[in-house]
Amino acid sequence: MRRLLAACLSAAIILLTNVALGQSIRLAVDLSDAPRNIFHSRLTLSAKPGPLTLVYPKWIPGNHRPSGPIANLTGLKITAGGQSIKWQRDPIDMYAFHLEVPAGAKDLQVSFDTITSGDSAGATGAAASTNVLDLNWNQVVLYPQETNSDAVEFEASVHLPAGWKFGTALPIKNQSDEIVEFNPVSLTQLVDSPLIAGDNYRQIGLNLTREDPVHVIDMVAESEAALAMTPQQTAAYHSLVAEAGALFGARHYTKYHFLYTLSDEVGHHGLEHHESSDNSVPERTLIDPELRLMEVGLLPHEFVHSWNGKYRRPAGLATPNYQEPMIGDLLWVYEGLTELDAGTISRGAGRDCGHA
Ligand SMILES: [Zn+2]
Repeated sequence: MRRLLAACLSAAIILLTNVALGQSIRLAVDLSDAPRNIFHSRLTLSAKPGPLTLVYPKWIPGNHRPSGPIANLTGLKITAGGQSIKWQRDPIDMYAFHLEVPAGAKDLQVSFDTITSGDSAGATGAAASTNVLDLNWNQVVLYPQETNSDAVEFEASVHLPAGWKFGTALPIKNQSDEIVEFNPVSLTQLVDSPLIAGDNYRQIGLNLTREDPVHVIDMVAESEAALAMTPQQTAAYHSLVAEAGALFGARHYTKYHFLYTLSDEVGHHGLEHHESSDNSVPERTLIDPELRLMEVGLLPHEFVHSWNGKYRRPAGLATPNYQEPMIGDLLWVYEGLTELDAGTISRGAGRDCGHA
């Protein structure tokens, strides 16, 4: 019975979406205007004639609420074969855009801008400054309504500001100058793999053994001086990785990137992901002992979330896409157990990693 019901639902969804399921959507994000807090998106997707609804991610993992910054989306243009296509926003759901794919059209080109001066990663504050940027992909995509985020594939690329370097867990296919192309991944993995970049960048390897997956800290900062992580701090993060391995007994990821932005110009937050965490703190956190003490628990907490919250997730938060509401009745386990485990691995790793 369940299989029959699933087959019927799948057929209904295919009829409704007018999109070739299992297709690959190309997404080019031009970040060259990031210092002005404008990200430019250009998507190419195959479609067949008839009604189509594109949606902007609304319920954001890690935020656990409808925090997708729809008010920041502007300049939406949709074309097919060079012809402009009219779209209409849903009168109730502000995250949905309706259009009619014209006869004979095979591909749609969709472009829009995202203003990133506020609502960065579910927190207040900007996503970028003249020296750093934080790209959360949910802010720069549209996708066909009713699509399971595991079932739609994105071939993403970014155009970085000249001379900037970047860190991300997203698998890299190609890089030349400011253009970085990534391997095709599901929308789930894309949204789960933020990218930070900046003109002051430093990467530190954290592996103690060759058997473990690669662990690194990617840091971007407003100044070169802010990247001065001491050998003691580095040693503490080495130990943090080892202590997490000892506590959990296994690693479910293929690599792990601590993305660490040090800036007073952008929003401050910590956001958990499977293979990375997106952490943003004041610029002088590594070199000011008082700031260091304030922020020292952030990386251990977000690291533990990779196990508790991502690899294992409360049922109400494991939704098929970003339009489906999340139910947060088990968030007390999600956050409470994470805080307990973060304290445990920090205690083992020493004071510089969070056990004051
Ligand atoms: Zn948390």
